[in-house]
Amino acid sequence: MGGSEIEYVKEAFDTNWIAPAGPFLKRFEQRLCEYTGRAHSVVLSSGTAALHLALKILGVGWNDTVICQSFTFCGSANPVIYEGAIPVFIDSEPDTWNMDPELLERAIRDLIEKGEKPKAIIYVHLYGMPARVNEIVDISRKYEIAVIEDAAEALGAKYGGQPVGRFGDMSILSFNGNKIITTSGGGALLSDHEEWIHRARFLSTQARDDAPHYEHSQIGYNYRMSNVAAGIGLGQMEVLDEWVMKRRRNHDYYRHALGDVEGIEFLVESGEAFSNHWLTCIQVDPSRTGGITRENIRIALENENIESRPLWKPMHMQPVFRNVTFYGNGISEKLFRNGLCLPSGSNLSDHDLDRVIKVIKALIP
Ligand SMILES: *Cc1c(COP(=O)(O)O)cnc(C)c1O
Repeated sequence: MGGSEIEYVKEAFDTNWIAPAGPFLKRFEQRLCEYTGRAHSVVLSSGTAALHLALKILGVGWNDTVICQSFTFCGSANPVIYEGAIPVFIDSEPDTWNMDPELLERAIRDLIEKGEKPKAIIYVHLYGMPARVNEIVDISRKYEIAVIEDAAEALGAKYGGQPVGRFGDMSILSFNGNKIITTSGGGALLSDHEEWIHRARFLSTQARDDAPHYEHSQIGYNYRMSNVAAGIGLGQMEVLDEWVMKRRRNHDYYRHALGDVEGIEFLVESGEAFSNHWLTCIQVDPSRTGGITRENIRIALENENIESRPLWKPMHMQPVFRNVTFYGNGISEKLFRNGLCLPSGSNLSDHDLDRVIKVIKALIP
């Protein structure tokens, strides 16, 4: 937390605007629009809920095909299943670790040929690293398929100098506890189409028709954010840029200390990308580290009471998605095998970072 969040929360308590409505919702939504350059937004109970509503609004339903990035967190694929639609997973490219535009286009062509033209594409800026946005959006336009930007991990990142959260027909954000800013749990859906955001707000509040009593002609959801959570979010927006600088500093610090270590490679910015470096991620190539693996490093850190994690396990490798079609090139499997997320919190001190570096350097001199 930055400090002012508690003031907003106190104001919510003092004015008795706890939930479901309240003035912070609108203010937080306005702030997100200003920050990302989007025309409209609605804040919700989670990023997963935002993605679910995005699919509903695009009319994705039973047996429709939706293209997803395989290398991601399950929250960016599960809503496809909620709607009875069929995901098709696409592998990553080596530079940004996000959706490979070439494989994307190949998949679209195959699916169109089979009469299964996808209804939507969900691409991700994983670990805060912007994907190849221009290529992905161009392909979506060429084939007239809606594109949803999963920016859950990437608020504060930029592509071509423009903040993420504005690329595609709709964008989603997450304010879950582990993300760069948090409302304790929450998300947002953003778009330039006003009717879509209106509809999302309607569906997120149990689809209540305009009547003095409770009248329902459609099935809705209880996906709205509370006014207290929105107050926290408003406070967090004041420190977002500072948190991004801290995360970027962690990344620079690690790279400065470990960049020359044989067999360790960092996920770095290329081309148009400005990453928020939500997490600093490395790949460990045991054929160049003298046999030291990602797991050796993870366990050595754990022995020093330092938590680190393997990279996301790709969706096409998950038991629950074992029958899903996958367009692969080996990249995400290799990333999962060799990749590690280093401690990356916005509050890490030099001393904390030095402890991590020391453990790694002791293994790979
Ligand atoms: C966290 C996350 C989500 C889901 O957000 P929640 O707020 O946790 O529901 C979706 N996609 C990605 C890439 C995420 O990291």
